[in-house]
Amino acid sequence: MSNHQCNEHCNHGSDLQKDPEIQKELEVAKSKLVGSLDATSIEKKAVHAHFSHVNKIKTSPTSAHHFVPATKETILWGYFSQVAPSTVKVNSGDFVTIETLTHHANDDEERMILGDLNAQAVFHWDAKSKGIDRRGVGEMSAPNGAGGGLGVHLCTGPVEIIGAMPGDVLEVKIIDVAPRPCANEIYSGKTFGSNAAANWGFHYGDTLTEPKQREVITIYEIDASAENTWARAVYNYRWTPQTDPYGVVHSTIDYPGVRVDHSTITKNTDILKNVRIPVRPHFGTIGVAPKEVEIASSVPPSYTGGNIDNWRIGKGATIYYPVAVPGAKFFVGDPHASQGDSEICGTAIECSLTGTFQFILHKKESITNPSLVDLNYPLLETPHEWLVHGFSYANYLAELGPQAQTEIFGKSSLDLAMRDAYHKMRHFLMTAKNLNEDEAISLMSVAVDFGITQVVDGNWGIHASVKKNIFL
Ligand SMILES: [Zn+2]
Repeated sequence: MSNHQCNEHCNHGSDLQKDPEIQKELEVAKSKLVGSLDATSIEKKAVHAHFSHVNKIKTSPTSAHHFVPATKETILWGYFSQVAPSTVKVNSGDFVTIETLTHHANDDEERMILGDLNAQAVFHWDAKSKGIDRRGVGEMSAPNGAGGGLGVHLCTGPVEIIGAMPGDVLEVKIIDVAPRPCANEIYSGKTFGSNAAANWGFHYGDTLTEPKQREVITIYEIDASAENTWARAVYNYRWTPQTDPYGVVHSTIDYPGVRVDHSTITKNTDILKNVRIPVRPHFGTIGVAPKEVEIASSVPPSYTGGNIDNWRIGKGATIYYPVAVPGAKFFVGDPHASQGDSEICGTAIECSLTGTFQFILHKKESITNPSLVDLNYPLLETPHEWLVHGFSYANYLAELGPQAQTEIFGKSSLDLAMRDAYHKMRHFLMTAKNLNEDEAISLMSVAVDFGITQVVDGNWGIHASVKKNIFL
């Protein structure tokens, strides 16, 4: 997206852009990508459209460029998995363009699914079958649907990094992020997203007006030409009980992908007039598979990343992950057009996006950067800051035992997340910046910003950021 008007923390003005080599090698990257496509003409058209937005990609003569479309074969609904077959295997240095779909697209099927054949196949659900049956890590016989909705995001992947082993560090550079254009010709040239003020939101039950336990969906429009940097609200509606094709009634938003029957709702268009929302596209859920379980819910973030829900994880950012399983097994999903710190009502502007990523593997035995030695948390670098992410439980799967994936929701704590963020920033300053503990503690109090990342993902988050330019 060009011509952003984000605030001083904006990471969309990548430092990568200043590298003349990037400009020089762009054409090579484009030709490699298109030449290597093994996709339908529709997918090729989509990726060509995507690359009309890309104007800086760094590659080298030895790096390849892969494409992973969002299909029902390349998506796991609601979980990461170390045992899922890889969608693509890549070498260190390779680029991968990955499509992601929002799991909230059925809040407005007409604007976010119709005409988009791959999305239609993913969301397909009739009386006999579903495009993707398991949605979450719960029981397949769960009363609200297979998988129980214990994990909700559409996760594209896994991308397998050849040679990655536990103890290594995977560096993921976010080269580009672009909105997925609406495929319904009625809305040609536009992109839409959905914000659900949902039952898992911090606000739920604590409202001034009745009914206190209500869920409200707001649909937003984003200009897919990538020239518009603002989103605008289109309309909102209150969630009404929805009956899925299997006959289950969903009185609240308790299972992902349920199509909202618009004949049952009342649309309010007179909303958020004279308000515009800065677009800062990013991926809410992005990370590698943890080793503790075969399938890990996509909702609580953990030491291998996942649903961190930090809007700074967008174009120009780089994340470093500890590799926990062979091949690393990278996933990305939960695309957001915009989100505020805390994500207080439960969701962002959930909006399908396509990202281009570069993967760089740091083998354990050759790591010399002190901040990456024994890294056991996701470390984020933006053009101007370093950030660490504290959680209520740094590794909730290991700390809470066999029932961790359900128990974490009863143990959400900002106090614990703050403690964890403090520990991680102290570690970063004492390793990456070679400060002693007293220096690190003083610096944290006078120059490090701690903020609430999210209060809606079970394992609540506090991030700590330190500006690069304070180090001379
Ligand atoms: Zn989200």
